[in-house]
Amino acid sequence: MSVLKVASFNQVLISREALCYNYRLLQRRAGQQRLLAMVKADAYGHGMSEVAEILSSIGCKDFGVAEVCEGVRLRQSGIDGNIFIFLGFAPSTVSLLFEYCLTPVIYDLQSAQILSEEAQRRGETIAVHLKVDCGMTRLGIYPEELNAFVAALANLPGVALEGVASHFPRADEQDSDHTLRQLERFAALRYQRPESYVEVWHTANSGGILYFPKSRCDMVRAGIALYGYYPDGFSDTVLQAPPQLQPVMSFVTRVLQVKTVPAGVGISYGHTYTTECESRIAVLPVGYEDGLSRSLSNVGEVLIGGQRARIRGRICMNLCMVDVTRIDGVNAGDEVVILGQQGSEQISGDEIAGWMESISYELLCLFGNNNERKYRE
Ligand SMILES: *Cc1c(COP(=O)(O)O)cnc(C)c1O
Repeated sequence: MSVLKVASFNQVLISREALCYNYRLLQRRAGQQRLLAMVKADAYGHGMSEVAEILSSIGCKDFGVAEVCEGVRLRQSGIDGNIFIFLGFAPSTVSLLFEYCLTPVIYDLQSAQILSEEAQRRGETIAVHLKVDCGMTRLGIYPEELNAFVAALANLPGVALEGVASHFPRADEQDSDHTLRQLERFAALRYQRPESYVEVWHTANSGGILYFPKSRCDMVRAGIALYGYYPDGFSDTVLQAPPQLQPVMSFVTRVLQVKTVPAGVGISYGHTYTTECESRIAVLPVGYEDGLSRSLSNVGEVLIGGQRARIRGRICMNLCMVDVTRIDGVNAGDEVVILGQQGSEQISGDEIAGWMESISYELLCLFGNNNERKYRE
């Protein structure tokens, strides 16, 4: 049976042009260094395979994902660059790393041993990167363990230590001393081993690339900035001189119904909002199932007719209501922008994230990974 493709009311639109623009801007800032595109979480909601394909076509050769299953999917979609698996691997998936030519980032010797056994069995060598915890307090060995780890690795045939990675917890704070100290720790490790065969040292995330130029090392790992957002959410304080990053995602829907509601009437579950005067209320086919967090109830805004309309009452699973009393001529079928620009008004991911007390990263995942995506120039 052929699958009939029926469009949803809700569409997440991905701009190829903005993505390529951001990639090139970041590549210029990274200078000669390799620019790894973080495409985990389905490319922060933008579609892992599609994003990787677009970036490959303009020269990107390094991609990062969290898990082996993502790496396999990415390879199967035809990407032939380097694919880094940042969370390591479960022993049962070791053969996939070889079959799909994936590069695991490891953080313990057991993993290296498992890789070595498999490598010897196959008569192959696998490249690994080692995660060092210089202050994030997340995955990784401690800096003082590096020498012993490298020595132990040297005794494991078939495993080649190709890179050392670390991660910043506070590089989104433009003047964080912690980042500078962490960078010093990382750099010291590097110079402590000048004869090392470790080729690629990398620690910079978007914050590192944008705010800490010295953190570039041999490769940088861009996530949120590729998708058009600044890690600290302040779009205009950063790259003082334009050009600025461009948001890649927008999210649009349509008005289902418009109704006149008398004063003093409760809206939606729990009647958490009561009309103060006779109101025009537009019903939208977007709810928390579509990534519109319930925490935006009575708080969030959307754009209709180029103007802002406040969400009224609780957001339901597939529906929400907005107040269009002060917007003339709103009808069923009209375009609604949840994220993005309409006329001269704009709602950014940072603004919505602010209403949710979250960050753009989460918002992009919520919208992008719960709706149909469409790619356009
Ligand atoms: C997600 C991630 C990045 C990218 O971070 P951004 O702040 O989105 O640029 C870089 N490195 C690692 C290890 C990550 O997990």
